[in-house]
Amino acid sequence: MPGLSARCALTRVPAQCRAWSRQLWGPQVLQHRPQCAGSAEAPATGTTTHEATAALQERLTNSDGATTSAAAPDSSDSAPPPKFLTRPGLRDARGALMLKNLTFCELESWCELVGERRQRARQLWRWLYADGALIHDISEATGVANGFSSAFLELFRQAHASIDGGMRLERVHRAADNTRKMVFRLTEGEGAGAAVEAVLIPIVRSGGARPRTTLCVSSQVGCGMNCQFCFTGRLGLCAQLSAAQIVEQMVEARRLVAEEAAVGAPDALAPVTNVVYMGMGEPLHNFDAVLASAAIATHELGLHFSANKVSVSTVGLVPQLRALVASSRCQLAVSLHATTDEVRNWLVPVNRRYPLAELLGALRELFPRSGGRFVLFEYVMLAGVNDSEEDAARFVALANDIECKVNLIIFNTHAGTRFKPSSADQVQRFRSALIQAGRVCTVRDSRGDDEMAACGQLGDVGAMGARAPVLRVPPRFQNALLAAAQG
Ligand code: SF4
Repeated sequence: MPGLSARCALTRVPAQCRAWSRQLWGPQVLQHRPQCAGSAEAPATGTTTHEATAALQERLTNSDGATTSAAAPDSSDSAPPPKFLTRPGLRDARGALMLKNLTFCELESWCELVGERRQRARQLWRWLYADGALIHDISEATGVANGFSSAFLELFRQAHASIDGGMRLERVHRAADNTRKMVFRLTEGEGAGAAVEAVLIPIVRSGGARPRTTLCVSSQVGCGMNCQFCFTGRLGLCAQLSAAQIVEQMVEARRLVAEEAAVGAPDALAPVTNVVYMGMGEPLHNFDAVLASAAIATHELGLHFSANKVSVSTVGLVPQLRALVASSRCQLAVSLHATTDEVRNWLVPVNRRYPLAELLGALRELFPRSGGRFVLFEYVMLAGVNDSEEDAARFVALANDIECKVNLIIFNTHAGTRFKPSSADQVQRFRSALIQAGRVCTVRDSRGDDEMAACGQLGDVGAMGARAPVLRVPPRFQNALLAAAQG
């Protein structure tokens, strides 16, 4: 958990605790905070500020054995709050703390900071994220088994907290292959009013294995990476999503699947078991929110996705991918898309900042052969651009010392693109070269493209306007793109 634990804060540095409380409650609410600081059963009204301050002082004295005068000048108002409280986007437009931004440990700290028992976090967490709960509003968890007491509801109200996810599900598109695109409207944060999309992809497996569903979530509105083949990239970066907004996509997906199962829909989706951060945005360009959301997604008391079934994708932000591997057990997926700097500088412009040698050098360190952990390389197959036998041979050489699997992506076309998908034969030749070199290599089929729900097709360029520049095509690829345009 980042920063000091709340218990440390309350028992050792009460003045600092007061400073943090202002962060949590705001100066107006802080006046009333001690009413809630004793216990959930403390009276909500009728206590003077003086009495309440005395109660808080007694609480602090009891906990560390040393009296600290609550009336003494607060010499540490400038003390930093716990690190998690400084993450951007934690609060809604009314200043309420959106609890879905917090990891489990952070929620425990929050409970203590507002005068609750740490165990209350477990109860809250289950109502927010466990199957069969997934409440929209705190009032849904009252008057039922394991529901909240009226005292806690009052505390919750005074603490100025919210369980809103900062977005609402506006509509669901169903593609011919039963893929669903969920379109959300952001209600909070820097992207308020914008739409973001997530995709539910049904996976039917052979050999009697149970079907499952993969959820592809977005981490930004638009994307600042400007990959030249990507529809989302045309938008440019419009806004970062908060952890709550990323988690809410998972919560809504679980709700949707549960609703379909409850009515016995004939083509109901199977349970969501896998999450991929491959929707709108470059996840590692929104690092803190993505890391927090992945921690929330994998916590065993709530959504409980297995860490090895949660994949975070990046185009190659080297410092951030190092940090992710160091701090999370989730899978890392790296979008390679080219085997020379010349081509990658064009297709994936971030390569100019982190060229292939630097990216692959980091992956060699982080994923050594037989190291037990692998990186997934993604490679979109573009006709005449990156799909030659020389490319395949270079790919094998580049990945030589790296424990990896490879996923070839069939390019999904969209309006205005200059690229064309590689032929099925070319994809198979490329795949065979990798397999002969001893690599696991799969091909990701196009899913949901009739509803613009496929990989690289998310976003609404028409509504927001294209804002990212189209880069100059290297001369030797101009013919290939010309052929694509004519074909
Ligand atoms: S491929 Fe991914 S990183 Fe590149 S522009 Fe599209 S969304 Fe952004």
